[in-house]
Amino acid sequence: MTELTQTLNKTMGLLKGLDQKDPLAIGQELHRFAGELYPICRSITGNGIRQTLVMIQKRIPLQTFEVPTGTAVFDWTVPKEWNIRDAYIKGPGGKKIVDFQKCNLHVLNYSTPVRATMPLSALKPHLFTIPEKPDWIPYRTSYYKEDWGFCLSHNQMLALQDGEYEVCIDSTLDQGHLTYGEYFLPGRSNDEVLISCHACHPSLANDNLSGLTVATFLAQLLSEKDCHYSYRFLFLPGTIGPITWLARNRDTARSIRHGLVLTCIGDKGQFHYKKSRQGNAEIDRIVSHLLRHLWESSEILEFSPYGYDERQYCSPGFNLPVGCLMRSVWGTFPEYHTSADDLNFIQPKQLAESLSLCAAIVDVLEQNRRYRNLNPFCEPQLGRRNLYRSTGGGAIEAEINARLWVLNLSDGEHSLLDIAERSGHSFSLINEAAQILREGGLLEIVPETGKETTRPQEESKAAHSCRD
Ligand SMILES: [Zn+2]
Repeated sequence: MTELTQTLNKTMGLLKGLDQKDPLAIGQELHRFAGELYPICRSITGNGIRQTLVMIQKRIPLQTFEVPTGTAVFDWTVPKEWNIRDAYIKGPGGKKIVDFQKCNLHVLNYSTPVRATMPLSALKPHLFTIPEKPDWIPYRTSYYKEDWGFCLSHNQMLALQDGEYEVCIDSTLDQGHLTYGEYFLPGRSNDEVLISCHACHPSLANDNLSGLTVATFLAQLLSEKDCHYSYRFLFLPGTIGPITWLARNRDTARSIRHGLVLTCIGDKGQFHYKKSRQGNAEIDRIVSHLLRHLWESSEILEFSPYGYDERQYCSPGFNLPVGCLMRSVWGTFPEYHTSADDLNFIQPKQLAESLSLCAAIVDVLEQNRRYRNLNPFCEPQLGRRNLYRSTGGGAIEAEINARLWVLNLSDGEHSLLDIAERSGHSFSLINEAAQILREGGLLEIVPETGKETTRPQEESKAAHSCRD
């Protein structure tokens, strides 16, 4: 495991839970869980997403919701429910040449049922391939236009001979429900942190399963802590899922103070963070700060109205501070939406690093308080309190420098993140300095007022606090 993860483990409160275990073992556990979810044929509705949520429920007490077909959700309508049992193409010799049982990407997701025999010329308009990657099977969908089709490798298609083909798609597209899962973890405050990921892609590992597994493990970690914020985890179908959730939870959405969409976080690419529409929200600043200080190379992307489910959370009517954390950006890696986005494309090490980063983000959120210097008239004499080095001369150490920054900017207005950004020090160093100065009687916490409401004491859980 990287030095970075070890450093994180030492300095961050929440990561102490991770510290108890070998990080590589956590990575392997994440990968194993992704492997369990991989074979399921998910879609935006139907039994695949239900089965996925049941498997997540074995780890966290997820609540599931069923929204009937035809329900109006803002400008959209909950679609018919799709389920599939089997699908294949039999060649002129009667042999199965494309088999859904071998790979669920073979079926155009949301295909209407078909049983027919037809010549190759009639079948071809229903076949999808990637000529540039002739051995890979593409992932294609047709959610909102009724159609049927098969996806196969380009080489497989080139080998097809003229003749009669038997096609079968044993699917149903009927009145039913849209299913999503929600796990709410109450904190001491009613202010919420949203973690959202899509759970609608079939056997695709990075785009889908990496986010699902990391979010599940993060929820497990947080469930053992007594947190300041309340945390809401959503596992839902892409696009129509958050639209449905937001339509049913307009009041709840008002409590969301920070949010992250997690996706494509298991591959070897460097981290990318796409900022929220607000652009300078606390979550945007925290992720940018951590990536700058902890990773040699990473990239911060400005908001754009295309991408994952941050599009809905950041629609102008909601304008929630929700960014999107990725390693490789969707659409920029060749494996994206193909059979090559498999379990080999995501690795335990990368999954563990992504979980560490998420935990570090939560740690900063939880600890980013404002303090007041109790001795603001000239510098307090640190040496007398054993808070300064004993011999003068030479450059002061980073720890001492961080203390001076905290003392100077702790006027009740600047948060620790403000101080970290302005001083150039890492948040963990600034936070450590604040804790030492507080213990030394030089600082007090400024109570948070106005922007938040506090949950009654009896409702909050008494366990290890991740804020104090
Ligand atoms: Zn996708």
